[in-house]
Amino acid sequence: MTDTKTVLISGASIAGPALAYWLAEYGWNVTIVERANELRDGEQNIDVRGAGRTVARRMNLEDAIRGATTGELGTEFVRSDGSAIARFPASTSDTSGATAELEILRGDLARLLVDATPDTVEYVFGNSITAIDDQPDHVRVSFDHGDDRAFDLLVIVDGMNSRTRRLVFGTAPTIRPLGLNTSYLTIPRTSADSDWAKWFNAPGGRTMTLRPDTKGTIRATMSFLSPPGAHDALTPDQQKNLLRDKFAHAGWEAQRILDSLDQKEDLYFEHIGQVKAPTWASGRVALLGDAAYCASPISGMGTSLALVGAYVLAGEIAAHVDHRDAFRGYERIMRPYVNQAQQLPPGAPRIANPRTRIGIVALNAAAKIGASRAFSAIGGKFFSPPADKIDLPDYSHLVH
Ligand SMILES: Cc1cc2nc3c(=O)[nH]c(=O)nc-3n(C[C@H](O)[C@H](O)[C@H](O)COP(=O)(O)OP(=O)(O)OC[C@H]3O[C@@H](n4cnc5c(N)ncnc54)[C@H](O)[C@@H]3O)c2cc1C
Repeated sequence: MTDTKTVLISGASIAGPALAYWLAEYGWNVTIVERANELRDGEQNIDVRGAGRTVARRMNLEDAIRGATTGELGTEFVRSDGSAIARFPASTSDTSGATAELEILRGDLARLLVDATPDTVEYVFGNSITAIDDQPDHVRVSFDHGDDRAFDLLVIVDGMNSRTRRLVFGTAPTIRPLGLNTSYLTIPRTSADSDWAKWFNAPGGRTMTLRPDTKGTIRATMSFLSPPGAHDALTPDQQKNLLRDKFAHAGWEAQRILDSLDQKEDLYFEHIGQVKAPTWASGRVALLGDAAYCASPISGMGTSLALVGAYVLAGEIAAHVDHRDAFRGYERIMRPYVNQAQQLPPGAPRIANPRTRIGIVALNAAAKIGASRAFSAIGGKFFSPPADKIDLPDYSHLVH
């Protein structure tokens, strides 16, 4: 592009700073607006695999990511008394294994990406977009605080439940609920904890996991099958009470996790879903990352989609004079990758969260026969996501 050189990015998590990095490399002036008052630390364990890892390597970040990994040794399916049913050691393969080689906390990866962007990138925290006026030669943006500003392009990267997306794309993008509620929180680490991720199924479609982190604490999840919309309107206190009811007699470490509910403020409660958007661009505005094509945590692909999408969108913007061609190129290259990522195995997520004791026995028996094909089919994308199923274009000749 010759005359479209300023871009506003809404959202500073994974895809936003990655896009900023690449567009700055191609000579663009980049501004990022983030609703949170500061970069959010820690949070859930995510992994970087396949083409996502290749993009991280092209950003010279692979070693830094490896240095910040959680050190998870693998994933262990456990009984109520904590004894192991089956163990899956961390994978050294780029694409398979419940525990990938590059397991990192989301906030730690965001920090590495932000630190990798040059000083010329302007970060605005504690603000968000309230109105968007998309004109033929610029896009005018109003904010919660401060003056309106005009940019050549706007990229919306502010997550699955993006409100900014609605300002441009209305109700066309939909969220497909997957029938599973998942809650994430940090709990104290005890001497009985190890660096193995633990996975426990309780009857009634309830699952708990405990995973190590780099902060001397443990990242816990509590998941349960639930009809879409059933718990969307709960206040934080109601969410905690629901979890207490659901997990009161679930066994294993349930009581320990529930005891932590009042000590920490970082409970994140969501109904997991996938974003289905018929198009990722309108005028001078594009969608990226979870805001465009969230595949859900059970796909194991969110981080790879965010990193690869940022790389491809920036490369296509730099490679084309007209932003409409750039956005078309981005969709053409990314759609097949996204479609594969969003294809969950039949029966997911119910199959990994059985309702009955017999179902749990069957799941554990499948786990026990090892990392066999049969179990990979049940574990599905979670164990071997299609993270490398894209031919990454080479945009290195466009770097300034
Ligand atoms: C528990 C869990 C486990 C996961 N595990 C994996 C995994 O193993 N592998 C994997 O690849 N992926 C995983 N994911 C998915 C991965 O975390 C996401 O796909 C990825 O973070 C998407 O990045 P993003 O930048 O598009 O959006 P997000 O990470 O959702 O970030 C959106 C950003 O926008 C900000 N924001 C929100 N609203 C506004 C607004 N109005 N204005 C400005 N800013 C706003 C938010 O504060 C946030 O910083 C997991 C997700 C979860 C929840």
